[in-house]
Amino acid sequence: MSTVVRDVSIFGEAIAYFNEAADLLELDSGMRRILTHPTRQIIFSIPFQRDSGEFEVFTGYRVQYSFARGPGKGGIRFHPGVTLDEVTALAFWMTWKCAVVDLPFGGAKGGVTCDPSTLSSSELERITRRYAAELVEVVGPDKDVPAPDVNTTPQVMAWFMDTYSMHVRQNQPGVVTGKPLEIGGSRGRVEATGRGVTICAMDQMQQMGMDPKRASVAIQGFGNVGMHAARLFAERGCKVVALSDVTGAYCNPKGVDVGAAVAHAAKFRNLEGFTGGERISNAELLLLDCDVLVPAALENVFSAENAAKVKAKLVVEGANGPTTPEAARVFKERGIVVIPDIMGNAGGVTVSYFEWAQDRMGYFWKEAEVNERLEDVLLENLHQIRAIADKRGATLRTAAYTLAIDRVVKALKLRGIYA
Ligand code: GLU
Repeated sequence: MSTVVRDVSIFGEAIAYFNEAADLLELDSGMRRILTHPTRQIIFSIPFQRDSGEFEVFTGYRVQYSFARGPGKGGIRFHPGVTLDEVTALAFWMTWKCAVVDLPFGGAKGGVTCDPSTLSSSELERITRRYAAELVEVVGPDKDVPAPDVNTTPQVMAWFMDTYSMHVRQNQPGVVTGKPLEIGGSRGRVEATGRGVTICAMDQMQQMGMDPKRASVAIQGFGNVGMHAARLFAERGCKVVALSDVTGAYCNPKGVDVGAAVAHAAKFRNLEGFTGGERISNAELLLLDCDVLVPAALENVFSAENAAKVKAKLVVEGANGPTTPEAARVFKERGIVVIPDIMGNAGGVTVSYFEWAQDRMGYFWKEAEVNERLEDVLLENLHQIRAIADKRGATLRTAAYTLAIDRVVKALKLRGIYA
């Protein structure tokens, strides 16, 4: 993927966004200090046996950033680029994401530094089980609830849930979300993040006077977020002009056949060899002539340099952290509207919350009910963000942080600092 190579802390940069909103809220220095420190960072070794019999050791992480509003919540990422700094930034973003859509959760994130494309299914299972076993004491439905993220699937969640349940000697589906339906998953969870992206995009397009039936959309990333977003944009009548994954980008100004791309990826595991569009690079995709641009891959894809050349009018962040603070400044100057990650991709964790609630009730909802509640939650909070942005003359990102920080601070003040 075309990420911008930067020798700076991702967490450090994430704090820049926090500070802008903290200034607007006139937050005191003590509260700033507390909110810019993770509650708990856990690093551990994951020894495992390769199918060949050889032993290897990977590094696992779980960062529990905040418990102010409830148990920790956030995905587990399996990727070669996973570091403590990245996981901390992702846990920090989860804190604001859960607060911005008003879920009763704090924020957390986990990861294993590994390349899943080189692992067999049984190797992946052993790594997942050891990862879960290391965290038995600190996760749980009332402590911290993991979920899928980059390269982790419902099957990985099933192994996690099983390992935890075996250790605590009782079935505990609510320890993770994003599980398969058969073992306590929620209808609508798989596509929820992509659905959330389209819900936010449609509402913002209406606000900006754009007709979805005439709008062109380019999407970077064809994983769980990008693929479902592409499908749902097409379903709503938008023209998807480009798609991409790690193999490159595929562009067709007349519209890519999203169904054909989904079928291709299902058959070959990625888009390599897809003939439904002209092959361009991931970097070129970001600069295409289109109305809506959806980065749905990894962090740091927009620098000040490429942000200056983006042609889209609206950017909806499906990925976490795709925009560097310098790029955000350029977007603001150029009048490009950005729905920030903590709002744009909050559909996933919102349906995770529904899944956790359904698991605890032992009563499962119809898909239409899940989707309807998802739309309600997202639009209600998006509208609040927009009202803050209008009132304060701020970007949607700063407004989203303002709303989220205010909610977390209120919870912290009510609970008090146990010192
Ligand atoms: N990994 C997703 C995110 O970044 C989902 C987290 C969750 O459902 O807990 O929002």
